[in-house]
Amino acid sequence: MTSSEKPDETVVNNLSEIQQRISAAEQGRSIPGSPVELVAVSKMHGMDRIQNALDAGHRVFGENRVQEAQKKWTGQRSKYPDLSLHLIGPLQTNKAADAVDLFDVIQTVDRPKLARALAKHIHASPRNPTCMIQVNIGDEAQKAGVAISDLGDLLNQCRGDIGLPIIGLMCIPPAAESPAPYFALMAKLAAAQGLEHLSMGMTGDFEDAIKFGATSVRVGTGIFGPRPGPVDPT
Ligand SMILES: *Cc1c(COP(=O)(O)O)cnc(C)c1O
Repeated sequence: MTSSEKPDETVVNNLSEIQQRISAAEQGRSIPGSPVELVAVSKMHGMDRIQNALDAGHRVFGENRVQEAQKKWTGQRSKYPDLSLHLIGPLQTNKAADAVDLFDVIQTVDRPKLARALAKHIHASPRNPTCMIQVNIGDEAQKAGVAISDLGDLLNQCRGDIGLPIIGLMCIPPAAESPAPYFALMAKLAAAQGLEHLSMGMTGDFEDAIKFGATSVRVGTGIFGPRPGPVDPT
């Protein structure tokens, strides 16, 4: 793609359609809440495609890898001061400092060691990203996230000696099942812990997630279309 190429109307149209569907789903909530934040998941897409969403005024993006996000987003903040970058993929402790430098929201805190590393870098940095805890809500061996049984303990540690403020919970329910019971359980866990924010729902199920109290949905394919193969970072 060249820079002279015309803006891609599909991205702009998709974005506005998803926003309309979010508004409709907000109207259908049994308990009214604040407007739902749309995190446009731009992982694996290049900046040329992402630029369409920026030009349309969208500022909230999700990436799942620190290195890929650095390559794409470093330097964009001077052009878009109101940019909000969310880390939605697993984070290695040795990348915690890089994540603090780049992201505004880190959604995938899932163990004390990582929470400690993040707290240390946040305290030493002028940046102050907010953090959420990822819950392995379907108890899947291959998935990241804290086990439900360990959530209370991790939160207590974050609120206690670690000193990492946590604003909410995030989950990716099991792919092959109806997500509704998992969304409902997430809402229960967040309420029990006095947490206000819930990041749940993707292209296939964000309307359900909103019904169950999502405050933030993560939509990739529905905005940018199918993802190209993994980009070689070298
Ligand atoms: C890729 C990804 C998404 C977006 O998924 P789509 O189905 O493309 O909307 C949402 N959340 C996480 C954690 C992801 O990794």
